[in-house]
Amino acid sequence: MTLTARLGRAARELLELFLPPACPLCQSLLPPGPATVFCPACRERMPPLAAPCCSRCALPFATSGGGDHLCANCLRDTTPGFSRVHAAGHYAEFLRLAIQRFKYSGAVHLDRPLGDLLAARLDPGPARLLVPVPLHPSRLRHRTYNQSLLLARCLGRHLQLPVATDLLLRQRPTPPQQGLPAAVRRHNLRGAFALGGNVESCCILLVDDVMTTGSTARECSRVLLEGGAARVEVAVAARAGQLRSGFQAVEIC
Ligand SMILES: [Zn+2]
Ligand SMILES: [Zn+2]
Repeated sequence: MTLTARLGRAARELLELFLPPACPLCQSLLPPGPATVFCPACRERMPPLAAPCCSRCALPFATSGGGDHLCANCLRDTTPGFSRVHAAGHYAEFLRLAIQRFKYSGAVHLDRPLGDLLAARLDPGPARLLVPVPLHPSRLRHRTYNQSLLLARCLGRHLQLPVATDLLLRQRPTPPQQGLPAAVRRHNLRGAFALGGNVESCCILLVDDVMTTGSTARECSRVLLEGGAARVEVAVAARAGQLRSGFQAVEIC
């Protein structure tokens, strides 16, 4: 995080000492305490993933009822990859709004409420180490912070697990992936990541903000597993993909 972002956060924390705590998304007043959680009304519009989902990549199925099972992509994909995806909820409604502000509008203070939400809805399983999806230095210079690293640090505090920032490296920049088909994303990402240290026998929780097609997580997992990691699971603040009826993108002031 840059000095400006750090100063902004420090100023916000100082103000919170004197002002009543407010929801970090809609600014409605909260009961006394640290303003690091979303208000109940905002949380209500950040529903957790509901079954049935893919038991590996957490893609929500359009049908209601029935149990989790593998989606067509995961059935077809026989290469070594992540074992399971954990997500705080659908990339829709207020969760989508919070992530967009966090990622694209410099709202770095949303790391804690998003991290808290993810931690509350996450079973870390056997993971002993958190690895954030890295940004290429050129993208980091432009955005000034890596949102996945901020999320990983919050999760690390909750789960009392270390965060490794040097085990996975982004060795070449990739074009923005938004809106691209899965096959093009996979092609763009081939060779984008490299191992930066020893991951032999590590059980890793890979942390990212959003999973859409899963191409980034698959490529990162492949590099970690080929480097000797024992298992890779993925934690994301939101899972994009098939939406259920009734979830719409909304804007609040
Ligand atoms: Zn709120
Ligand atoms: Zn799947």
